[in-house]
Amino acid sequence: MWQAQVRVDLDAIRHNVATLRDYLAPGTRLMTVVKADAYGHGMLPVARAALQAGADWLGVATLDEAITLRDAGITAPVLAWLHSPDRPLHDAIERDIDLSAASIDGLLEITQSARKAKKPAKVHLKIDTGLSRGGAAQKDWPALLERAAKAAGDGDAEIKAVWSHLACADEPGHPSTARQLAAFHDALEAAERHGIRPELRHLANSAATLTLPETHFDLVRVGLSTYGLSPIEGAGPDLRPAMSVHARVALVKEVPVGEGVSYGHTYKTLKDTTLALVPLGYGDGVPRAASSRGPIWLAGKVRRIVGRVCMDQVVVDCGDDEVRPGDEAILIQRGGPTADDWALACDTINYEIVTRMGSARTPRIYVGERT
Ligand SMILES: *Cc1c(COP(=O)(O)O)cnc(C)c1O
Repeated sequence: MWQAQVRVDLDAIRHNVATLRDYLAPGTRLMTVVKADAYGHGMLPVARAALQAGADWLGVATLDEAITLRDAGITAPVLAWLHSPDRPLHDAIERDIDLSAASIDGLLEITQSARKAKKPAKVHLKIDTGLSRGGAAQKDWPALLERAAKAAGDGDAEIKAVWSHLACADEPGHPSTARQLAAFHDALEAAERHGIRPELRHLANSAATLTLPETHFDLVRVGLSTYGLSPIEGAGPDLRPAMSVHARVALVKEVPVGEGVSYGHTYKTLKDTTLALVPLGYGDGVPRAASSRGPIWLAGKVRRIVGRVCMDQVVVDCGDDEVRPGDEAILIQRGGPTADDWALACDTINYEIVTRMGSARTPRIYVGERT
């Protein structure tokens, strides 16, 4: 009998990918972002489901993530956008993994590896349009373009794309988004002046895909919304959350009024009551910040965690309601509590809640698997 599990509904993933396609103009391609183990949902099953539903590309952060996709037999285009300087790249190039370059040094490492792999690298040139995170600084962009044009001429690289990433697309109307879009257009014009006409231009994340069609260009990179969550309250109403989190009550007991509960006694019972022990804790991705706040559905309604979240378990106050060992407690499900409820309770974002949920000891169960 199971004790705790994370369930992932692959039909929901397919539904979301198909729904997201409907946001795009014909010809605009969709990249499903499956980094960080598909935001905690499981990279390979999610990648396969997304491709079944019509995703054109897969996006990941690290090369190891991209290689895992390839080694599992996935042949769809894959972009990996984050690697450290001394990482050898020929294995990725041999496996047909597209790479991002944001500096001349980065580009040279790619072209040297391409020569070693004896095939041109597929490169996405990244411009920093205002996030101040990845991407070439705008002042360095012309020099990068010049080197990229040379690398293409030498047959070491195919410049597949010019791309960038938005800082505040999840805040509708934020003035930085229009500034970044204008800077992106400038970067594309500069590329053109250097004779670089990439097949793909891409800028949009989930928020921009859902709300800003002018940012879609040739390809959108959608992470969060694939999983049925939205970065903007109310946007993407047809999305279906794919993850639910379940545990079975390990112990039930009656305690008198005034008893301290869990480490530090940060909570004291307000009356004689029944406490239920739910076997999931911060070792399984339940944020410790959810102490005395996190919502859990148990015995017919949503209740609160009382006292500190421990490594392996939490305590739920059930009042006078009947609850038995073995009853199912649900931390996240479509009807609530949702990842958004947890994010609110823990002062974080839904991204972090689902990405961290689960652990090596918590099995992930797939619903709707198709081979
Ligand atoms: C994670 C990531 C995305 C996906 O963002 P969402 O908001 O989850 O859609 C897109 N592009 C880059 C560069 C990313 O790092």
